[in-house]
Formats: sequence, structure tokens, C-alpha cells
Amino acid sequence: MSTKHTPGPWMAEQDQKGRWRVYCDAYSDEAPLVAKGSQVWPMSEEDAHLIAAAPDLLEALRALAGARDVTYYDDSDRSSGTYQVCIVCHEMAEKASEIAHDASCIVGKARAAIAKAEGRS
Ligand SMILES: [Zn+2]
Repeated sequence: MSTKHTPGPWMAEQDQKGRWRVYCDAYSDEAPLVAKGSQVWPMSEEDAHLIAAAPDLLEALRALAGARDVTYYDDSDRSSGTYQVCIVCHEMAEKASEIAHDASCIVGKARAAIAKAEGRS
């Protein structure tokens, strides 16, 4: 899937007044600003680092959710056809994308986080 957000890597740094901000590239004068705190609503260092890691986290979750041989297996039954089964929660559906994962399933959590990052939830 193509990405529409500002390309990574993103970097967290403090400005001259000590306020945290996140750039897509801290070493370019024309680098887009991704997020910054203000005097009224300061951004914590921890939040700045979390935001800066977002493109890397999204890429890792997409790799996990897309690693079909790691997250799903086929369950064939002559009478009912072939189902895709989640290797973690064992829920199944005809297509992996249609599986309703358990609330505690890490594969389902990864898919939900990707949907949130892509603005689909
Ligand atoms: Zn699952």
C-alpha cells in the first residue's frame, strides 16, 4: 500500500527554546515539520520520540500483518472449502482480511493500528 503521510525517517529534537518538535529530516532546512509543542501546549520528550517512531512502527506492523505465512495458515475441509486461520487466536474466514480476531490477538491489534494510522477507523 502506498503511503500518504510525510515520508520517514522522522526525528525528534528540541528547538532553541527547549520545545520538542518532530521533523521528517532534522538536517534539511526545507524538511517538513510533522508536529511541535507550543508554549501553551508543550509536547513531552516521550511523545516527540513516539511520534518520530510512527513511520517505523507503521512499516513494522504492515510487515507483520502482511507476512501471511507467519500470521495465517490454511485449513482445508473437503465439505466446506479452504479457510484462512489466524495463527494466534485461531479465528477463521475465507479470506484473511475478513477474520474477526479476538480482542487480545496481536495480529488483530496490528491490523487495527494500521487502519487507525491510515485513517480507516
Ligand atoms: Zn487473530
